[in-house]
Amino acid sequence: MIATKAYAVQDATSPLGPWSFERREVGPHDVQIEILYCGVCHSDIHQVRNEWGNSMYPMVPGHEIVGRITKIGDHVTRFKVGDLAGIGCFVDSCRECTPCKDGEEQYCVTGGASTYNGMEMDRKTPTYGGYSTQIVADEKYTLKVSDKLPLEGVAPLLCAGITTYSPLRHWKVGKGHKVAVLGLGGLGHMAVKLAAAMGAEVTMLSTSPSKEADARRLGAHHFALITNTDRMKGLRSQFDFIINTISAPHDYSTYLNLLNLDGVMICLGVPPEPSVVPAFNLIMGRRSIAGSLIGGIRETQEMLDYCAAHNITSDVEVIDIKDINTAYERMLKGDVKYRFVIDIASLKKS
Ligand code: NAP
Ligand code: ZN
Ligand code: ZN
Repeated sequence: MIATKAYAVQDATSPLGPWSFERREVGPHDVQIEILYCGVCHSDIHQVRNEWGNSMYPMVPGHEIVGRITKIGDHVTRFKVGDLAGIGCFVDSCRECTPCKDGEEQYCVTGGASTYNGMEMDRKTPTYGGYSTQIVADEKYTLKVSDKLPLEGVAPLLCAGITTYSPLRHWKVGKGHKVAVLGLGGLGHMAVKLAAAMGAEVTMLSTSPSKEADARRLGAHHFALITNTDRMKGLRSQFDFIINTISAPHDYSTYLNLLNLDGVMICLGVPPEPSVVPAFNLIMGRRSIAGSLIGGIRETQEMLDYCAAHNITSDVEVIDIKDINTAYERMLKGDVKYRFVIDIASLKKS
């Protein structure tokens, strides 16, 4: 077994603190990755605090992982020792259901094996995430990472990047489309960058007046404050798509009115409480509400390659592991520009 240092929570109300555990030995199809950086996703906060009601403790969060391969199993063919590698939101799946066969493993009918707060496919071994010094995973669920881009800015692509890239591709968003992005945090800033790179006209909808200049720098063509009711009225029936990344409970119906005929609101955020949607807000304009979950391994690799080719990374604030609890508090206030990323060297030293 491989001794691993980590930060974990022991229950839904305690802060994160140092913890150690053992990873499995490297199997024939596995790679061992020395973790260099791990992004901090709002899903980490939801799960640490059991806001989705499915948390298992102790929990080591973290599913935006980049690092370097230190060991490979005998049958590994895609990686060698010394390669850069990434792990996203899941580390295995059943490999037999239709979504798995179609390369949409994130929709595995068994639920697959989440990178943390889940079980391996043996359904006995808990999974632990990237707030840790190393990880062992099957090479099939491991991504290749280019050395062209700064690694700390690549880590958030493994969740925030693919979660926004996948729906943009699925709905074929591009030139001629008007896209609104709701919420300028980790997902929101990647949605702005990617939608703009794909040619859409992007409007940032935010609760934070202080983020306007950044939104424009990230690629948004327009900016509107959600709290400015006159401005919001002026945006009625304007958008083909709304990418909704809001993490807190909110009323979907307010935003549905901003959709054009046949417009789609794509929900990415997972607030702890549901929103009630009046039928009128959908039938007026034949609008739809849809959802999208991260992305499959093939598409995640495509996204990483796209970002390397287009020089796209996340805007990050690199932190020491000891500052993780403060980082959570700041994220809850919308005070992150635009992703916290843990420098795992600080965990090794601690
Ligand atoms: P984040 O960095 O904390 O950003 C969320 C943003 O939402 C905030 O910066 C804020 O932006 C806005 N916001 C917060 N409270 C709001 C409120 N009450 N009303 C309106 N806007 C509000 O979070 P994230 O990491 O991007 O994650 C966003 C959500 O996506 C989370 O619920 C997370 O669990 C979920 N998620 C889903 C998937 C998936 O596969 N679907 C994957 C990853 C994450 P402004 O300051 O601009 O208003
Ligand atoms: Zn995430
Ligand atoms: Zn499956």
